[in-house]
Amino acid sequence: MSKYIEKVLADVKAKNANEPEFIQAVEEVLSTLAPVIEANPQYEKAAILERMVEPERTVMFRVPWVDDNGVVQVNRGYRVQFNSAIGPYKGGLRFHPTVTLSVLKFLGFEQTFKNSLTTLPMGGGKGGSDFNPRGKSDGEVMRFCQSFMTELSRHIGADTDVPAGDIGVGGREVGYLFGQYKRLRNEFVGVLTGKGRPFGGSLVRPEATGYGTVYFAQYMLEKLGQDIKGKTVALSGFGNVAWGAAQKLVQLGAKVVAISGPDGYIYDEKGMTQEGVDYMLELRASNNDVVEPYAAKFGAKFVKGRKPWEVKCDIAFPCAIQNELNGDDAKMLVENGCMMVVETSNMGCTADAVNYLNGRVAFAPGKAANAGGVAVSGLEMSQNSMRLSWSADEVDAKLKDIMKSIHDNAYDTAEKYGMKGNYVAGANLAGFIKVADAMVAQGVC
Ligand code: GLU
Repeated sequence: MSKYIEKVLADVKAKNANEPEFIQAVEEVLSTLAPVIEANPQYEKAAILERMVEPERTVMFRVPWVDDNGVVQVNRGYRVQFNSAIGPYKGGLRFHPTVTLSVLKFLGFEQTFKNSLTTLPMGGGKGGSDFNPRGKSDGEVMRFCQSFMTELSRHIGADTDVPAGDIGVGGREVGYLFGQYKRLRNEFVGVLTGKGRPFGGSLVRPEATGYGTVYFAQYMLEKLGQDIKGKTVALSGFGNVAWGAAQKLVQLGAKVVAISGPDGYIYDEKGMTQEGVDYMLELRASNNDVVEPYAAKFGAKFVKGRKPWEVKCDIAFPCAIQNELNGDDAKMLVENGCMMVVETSNMGCTADAVNYLNGRVAFAPGKAANAGGVAVSGLEMSQNSMRLSWSADEVDAKLKDIMKSIHDNAYDTAEKYGMKGNYVAGANLAGFIKVADAMVAQGVC
């Protein structure tokens, strides 16, 4: 690591000591940047790293709402506008009880590099709330979303900051948020992505993160002279991302043997069928956050309270939440013959796990592999601006092209800097260079 990087990292640790997830994300990126930092003294001169680790703006606000019993509830809302060097802030909103400023700062920081990799003009941002949608009625979710947007609307705009979904925020929530924005601002613009089809949503957006990560895996396999057909796959999660991935994997002839929820995981030795994939939607819609019912319905095994990484598989796709796959899980996967891990959740693997896996197996970092979601959000922005709508085939073809560009950019950049096959370094370096060059060109701001 260069002296400059060490100094910035030490400052980040000192200044944000109570933000472990943010420190983890910064360390993961900065520890791979030495080759470009050393070759480009203009970055240090312009204090690019010091500026990149500080969000341009952070908004934190009260979200009061009334529950079905007439009781006033208060949650905390946030929007972290991290970096707008290459486009308006762009990134999802997460509604989950684990949401803190540290989590949203890590997500916003990662988003900046991810969005840079997509080839589209999008800066990085992230927001959300510690609101837990689990078990809430439709009316409660709507009133919460309206209150959240009442404050957020002052800080966003189609050319300023364009939020979207993430964990706990899907089509329903985006609809309520959009309705409230329109009402407050009296304008119909593409201020959110992941909208419903009738009001400007893009085809393929719901599937995009899951499809994108599978396309990314296919491009990696191609480099290794292998095919995804016939591969045994373990997925975690059963939300939107895991569903999209399962759908594409089943279409391509892979054998999906595991999905998981907060209650445990499902082991389906026969491999998931299209009916199983469709049932994932039903499970999610039930708003109970459990996968157990899948077992009885499809004659599969339910393993309570455990993660799916103990299952024998060729490829693992963590699709749930940050730090869901740790060093021990990584060892277990390798011992059981796993040859590829495609991190699909944001920072889904702990630092230990990444260090163990990267090089031992083919390892795809989340900011590259899961960029398909935000990429199609970028395409939704384009369609909204042009006031037209592309067909599903058109969007899917563009998504595939974008995932290929991200793959090749990460692969080629790693090779250029003498780290062939290291997608972690390649993605960080490629994502960084574009943002850093834009920042240098724009002066000290
Ligand atoms: N939340 C997704 C992500 O982590 C999508 C963000 C978006 O579509 O803006 O990239």
